[in-house]
Amino acid sequence: DKYEVEHSEFKLEKKLGEGNFGQVFEGLWNGTTKVAVKTLKQGTSEQESFLKEAKLMKKLRHPKLVQLYAVCTRSEPFYIVTELMCNGSLLDYLRDHEDLNQLILIDMATQIASGMAYLETNNYIHRDLAARNILVGKNNCVKVADFGLARAIKEEIYESTSKKFPIKWSAPEAALQKKFSIKSDVWSFGILLTEIIGKGREPYPGILDGAKIQSLTQQNASSNTNILTGWDTKEILPHVERGYRMPQLPDCPDSLYAIMKNCWDADPKNRNSFETLLWKLEDAY
Ligand code: AMP
Repeated sequence: DKYEVEHSEFKLEKKLGEGNFGQVFEGLWNGTTKVAVKTLKQGTSEQESFLKEAKLMKKLRHPKLVQLYAVCTRSEPFYIVTELMCNGSLLDYLRDHEDLNQLILIDMATQIASGMAYLETNNYIHRDLAARNILVGKNNCVKVADFGLARAIKEEIYESTSKKFPIKWSAPEAALQKKFSIKSDVWSFGILLTEIIGKGREPYPGILDGAKIQSLTQQNASSNTNILTGWDTKEILPHVERGYRMPQLPDCPDSLYAIMKNCWDADPKNRNSFETLLWKLEDAY
């Protein structure tokens, strides 16, 4: 296995964050290359999922997917070593950079669609596409990361047995029937577009944003939008099932909102592919 290396090749220098499995560090590889090192907490039951993520990452290579460099999985603590993305998660980046203009935001969305189109072509699904799982490098370069839930699929639809999933980002068929496909990733991409345009705003805002939602839904009264104020995560699904969709944000161009609405078509077959989303985003902006 050309990826397997010794722990001693790495010096962990700074903690970058906390992941699903353990901590993530900035490190130095062989004293020269800066890398990100994802570590697995020792003695957890997550070992199998961590190793699955590493195994899957070995098969993926695309400029818009965070690149695997090496692994240490022969002895604990296990490491997954990837390229370092100096500006961290897209969610934090959006919240800290109020000044990002629309052209840059749409370009970021296009880069993500490009990474996802690669997964689509190669029959992989991500299953946890959200701004928190996109990483940012220099010059607003973004890449898809966090393959903890990603799967290679033989059938078009993957039936998951896991109960844990991010409701606000999930397509109804994924949330309710556990049927994941590249088209349920497309739904999540639509939610991710709202995070990007809203500069890190939480999807389906809760009680604090109630007044804003009310005014937005009143504007949309002619389109029969429900008036919803202050709802929590588990209440969202029944509304979405009945046809409620996040309203258009003030900063969101009509053409982009049309793209989002298509991502949220109740019938997965009617949703665009990532290949189509890619050219639509490239063409429009
Ligand atoms: P994750 O386990 O992938 O969700 O990582 C947790 C956090 O660690 C992320 O939200 C980032 O802030 C940071 N992080 C993970 N991978 C990298 C990377 N390759 N480069 C820079 N920061 C990273």
